Amino acid sequence: MSDSSDRLLWIHGEYTAPADGEYFETLNPATGKAICKVAQASKEDVDRAVESAREGQEAWAAMSGAERGRILVRTAQLLRQNCDELARLESLDGGKPIAETPEADVGSAADCLEFFGGQAASVQGEYQAVPGGFFYTRPEPVGVCAGIGAWNYPVQIAAWKSAPALAAGNAMVFKPAELTPLSALRLAELFKEAGLPDGVFNVVPGLSDTGKALTAHPGIAKVSLTGGVETGKAVMRAASETLKLVTLELGGKSPLIIFEDADLDNAVGAAMLGNFYTQGEICTNGTRVFVHESVREKFVEKLVARTEKLKLGDPLDPDTDLGPLISRDHMNGVLDYIEKGKKEGGKLLTGGGRAKVEGFPDGNFVQPTIFDGLSDDMTIVQEEIFGPVLSLLSFDNEDEVLERANRTHFGLAGGLFTRDVQRAHRVAAKLDAGIVWVNHYNLTPVEMPFGGIKQSGMGKENSRRAFEYYTRLKTVYVAEGDVDAPY
Ligand code: NDP
Repeated sequence: MSDSSDRLLWIHGEYTAPADGEYFETLNPATGKAICKVAQASKEDVDRAVESAREGQEAWAAMSGAERGRILVRTAQLLRQNCDELARLESLDGGKPIAETPEADVGSAADCLEFFGGQAASVQGEYQAVPGGFFYTRPEPVGVCAGIGAWNYPVQIAAWKSAPALAAGNAMVFKPAELTPLSALRLAELFKEAGLPDGVFNVVPGLSDTGKALTAHPGIAKVSLTGGVETGKAVMRAASETLKLVTLELGGKSPLIIFEDADLDNAVGAAMLGNFYTQGEICTNGTRVFVHESVREKFVEKLVARTEKLKLGDPLDPDTDLGPLISRDHMNGVLDYIEKGKKEGGKLLTGGGRAKVEGFPDGNFVQPTIFDGLSDDMTIVQEEIFGPVLSLLSFDNEDEVLERANRTHFGLAGGLFTRDVQRAHRVAAKLDAGIVWVNHYNLTPVEMPFGGIKQSGMGKENSRRAFEYYTRLKTVYVAEGDVDAPY
């Protein structure tokens, strides 16, 4: 299929036109031009997708875990074989540098399918003897799950949701973000090529109404959303009408703490990765960088010097470090935050505005930006910006920095740099965060549980823990003797 071909809905193992004939355009964020038209799933299409998934799930759940696992592993192999094509598609649709997408997007999706493919045969219950008999538990598939994705890691999110769901015997109806619908459709084709039965993975591109139709649908047992906090609340409210299970991977404003004994070169590298990778459009980013007063000057000098070497450019150029932000609206939102930072008294150390990139006059490029001279209550220190904007803060002692780091309604992630092993574990234990990195930042191996606390979400993705969120536990009691009825 060429880039500019219209994309349809993927239901029951094939492309199908939307019932009401509605389409939307997906744009290339580097040029602002349309890549292609994409079918917009209506409520009627969602009904069709859920019905197909119900049918598909029955057949899928009846297969052995080993058989299901083989198909997931084969899909992972196909992703790797088609890595160049998928990475290019992801860079075209999402503006992500091609230096990132083969590994961070396609590779991460393949790792996840491989991991859960390997685990599919080992979804197991427990046995325990109790007075009068014994009981055992059966982790059963919940049925049809909805996956709703954000635009920053499109194929990775589709895989992180579908791999554990399918490994556990569920079917999934997936709605990619309206801004990046292309790679989930390609994933669906590869699932089919790997032998996935029809209906087990359906893709319904669309706008937020499509997401609303999924969360309201009585035929869906579980919703897993990656998105903003307000969307998470709306999804949870809607899901409560039918008491669906909910996993929410939401936003953050995570702290990265650099202690006085840190390896400063590593800490600078991590601060850059945790603020500028994928143009800063990463939920776990350590956007509040707390640096100990005694190393602050050295740290800042190195950070600014290395940041000023970053290259903004064509996402398809292998030398590009930062591509354009996802959309004009999002870029304007990030630029508004930068203006607020200046107005509220922040001091710009580098960046601070839109960037011009030769050959891309309409691209949504924003300079990697570092603010100093901030206080904890300023808007840019409190709110998620989701762009390349780093807030520098300084501190004197451990208790103080912990209190300030935790003073937020978010709780997604956090990081710390120190050579003191006791302090590392002490601070990791006290940070209010779902994930803490010690002497690194933003690594998400599939073996490791991933997910936030507080208003950053609930539930975990990745690791064997993910099965808890895609199964319902049935307890079976078995009597070994007679019934001793008093009547
Ligand atoms: P949004 O919350 O705007 O959208 C997420 C998805 O939900 C999209 O598919 C969207 O559809 C859909 N949606 C919007 N409203 C509803 C609704 N009422 N009911 C059901 N579905 C709905 O997030 P973005 O796509 O803008 O992504 C950025 C956000 O995602 C950031 O806050 C970021 O922190 C968070 N995020 C969290 C991650 C994590 O793992 N914790 C990882 C990545 C991002 P449409 O696209 O059509 O609007």
